[in-house]
Amino acid sequence: MEKLGAQQGSLFDGQELASLATDPAERVSALRREIEYHTYRYYALDAPEISDAAFDSLMRELRELEAAHPELADPSSPTQRVGGYVGEQFAPVRHAKRMYSLDNAMDLDELDAWMARMAEAYGSMPPVCCELKIDGSSVALSYEGGALVRAATRGDGITGEDITANMRTVRDVPLRLRAESLGAVRADAIELRGEVYMPKASFEKLNAAAEASGKQAFANPRNAAAGSIRQKDPKVTQGRDLSTFVYAVADEASLAAPGPFELLSWLREAGFHVNPDVALCETAEEVHAFCERALERRDQLPYEIDGVVVKVNSFAQQAALGFTARAPRWAIAFKFPPEEKTTLLRDITVQVGRTGTLTPVAELEPVVVAGSTVARATLHNLDEVRRKDVRIGDTVIVRKAGDVIPEVLGPVASLRPENAVPWEMPATCPSCGAGVIREEGEVAFRCVSIDCPAQALERLEHWASRGAMDIDGMGTEIIARLVETGRVSDVADYYTLDEVELSALDMGRVSKGGEPIRLGAVVAKKLVAAIDESRSRGLARALFGIGMRHVGKTTAELLAARFGSVDALAAATEEELAEVEGVGPKIARSIFVFLRTPDNLAVIERLRRAGVVLEEAAPDPGEALPQTLSGLTFVLTGSLTESGMTRDEAGARLKAMGAKVSGSVSKKTSYVIAGEAAGSKYDKAVSLGVPVLDEAAFLRILETGQAPE
Ligand code: AMP
Repeated sequence: MEKLGAQQGSLFDGQELASLATDPAERVSALRREIEYHTYRYYALDAPEISDAAFDSLMRELRELEAAHPELADPSSPTQRVGGYVGEQFAPVRHAKRMYSLDNAMDLDELDAWMARMAEAYGSMPPVCCELKIDGSSVALSYEGGALVRAATRGDGITGEDITANMRTVRDVPLRLRAESLGAVRADAIELRGEVYMPKASFEKLNAAAEASGKQAFANPRNAAAGSIRQKDPKVTQGRDLSTFVYAVADEASLAAPGPFELLSWLREAGFHVNPDVALCETAEEVHAFCERALERRDQLPYEIDGVVVKVNSFAQQAALGFTARAPRWAIAFKFPPEEKTTLLRDITVQVGRTGTLTPVAELEPVVVAGSTVARATLHNLDEVRRKDVRIGDTVIVRKAGDVIPEVLGPVASLRPENAVPWEMPATCPSCGAGVIREEGEVAFRCVSIDCPAQALERLEHWASRGAMDIDGMGTEIIARLVETGRVSDVADYYTLDEVELSALDMGRVSKGGEPIRLGAVVAKKLVAAIDESRSRGLARALFGIGMRHVGKTTAELLAARFGSVDALAAATEEELAEVEGVGPKIARSIFVFLRTPDNLAVIERLRRAGVVLEEAAPDPGEALPQTLSGLTFVLTGSLTESGMTRDEAGARLKAMGAKVSGSVSKKTSYVIAGEAAGSKYDKAVSLGVPVLDEAAFLRILETGQAPE
């Protein structure tokens, strides 16, 4: 059961501790940088990396510190403006009236404190309008003479982006206001505001389609909506099934409505999609009841909400209180706590990674937690399974806050079936049956076979992945079919595929008429073009893509720069290899052995004959990267299986952008990057409230040079 008010999770406690421990001036400037960065990720890139709850907590800490230390005030602090960023591809729109953010109440006590302030300001508790806080993206819709003339994003609150063409495609946005409603409009021009969102079902469909075609999925419906309204081609937006809920007017003077509640009726009359879940409340108890009901119903709603917005229900009274630099004083957003759910642990399966690492995975009875369906969660390694003592058949607690990776916290002891036994790592590889070893000093178990199909699949996926040879469209499903049909077993086989053969590839499913579903000519054509393009990615990407153990992107680049060709690399001695920056004896050994294994050399030879470039083109000028991560401290834990980077390489990449990399987690750690089989550092981060990023988030940092919110 979730409980309102049980919000003081470890994240928040940790942040508070951290603030006590450091010099306020230092902490304030670190927080500002942090928040600015996350704001940029969230608004400009639509790719946040920490949860809203964590962001809110940083913001709150900064606001509190600034209030306690007025000498640290700065007009450019993120507390002094609405968060946002104006991208460059859409024309800027200056908002006639600023688009504000909302202050948050993280639990019912804070909500009560706000209501008490309202009661004090107005002499008694004013009637308030309670609405669901829709988790989408805010939009301003301008009408002139009753016709939609412009739609804009919030941007930084002062200037947004012109997304008129895209918003016109959203079906529930009226292109004209209904004539019946115009009597109440006092001006020719009127601007309404609301939220554009993607219904949960559409989000799931969109992601399923993205996965099937090998494209990257959106983290949540909010990002999907934000990304969809910022498409260059309105047709793409149109295909995304967006909806809106409209709930505000930019300038109250332009309408005859006396307050938010009455405004909603007018909006509905004017033709807007208005959320039906609203209540006019007169007492704190009624407000609590609304919040509790919203939380209870959250999962059943077809769209995402992340809280409840409470607004003083009189525009005249609102005007008396006005705004802070960031948000109205007359409204508050009650935010839902991070979610924990219980569900059945149906099984613990073992996933075999590209380099043979065996990772236990919790197979759960699917359950919706914090807005997304969770059916699987990594259990990292055997030590973790033991430490948590989770057993097949257990009812387990799954926790997720916003965008954070779901986590199995542990079992509900009283619900354990009598016959549940401690889980064991299998003695043989579940994919190929070969032996499994655990090297001394390592937590991970590995499959010893080089012919393991699970590893082959992972290796093939890795070669086709974006950071490596980037074969656009070559997704997991297609690769799996190519492996299962025996058509592809190593990366050189990709280059023997042709259009005719690919288009006939049996996808292992049947149509309604019982016909086998084939890949089809359109996709086949695109794939062949993508395979062709991948031939010229260059030596560094090929060395990374081929998947030598311990050789991640950075090492591959260093090796390519030093040796210039695969032949020169293959001719190098172990000593020569170990001389390369960042390559120690362990990596040198791995490269040396790889390039002396006949099977591997045969694959390389076939790649060469297929026209894959295995030489370095013009040398890289080696420009220094902008120091966008300076002031941040990272700790790495677990293995980065997606990119195949070693921790040293990952650290080197972060350092190249000015970050510090530390070996242990403390209150000063800015982020912990947790790969597969993350262990105690992960737990420490959670207990100290240090944000934890997964590998995808880490790769985004490398790509953009920006750390998340
Ligand atoms: P935040 O972005 O967390 O500061 O929250 C403020 C945002 O909540 C606003 O800019 C709106 O986009 C959004 N919001 C969602 N539902 C509502 C609502 N019913 N009333 C006001 N704002 C809302």
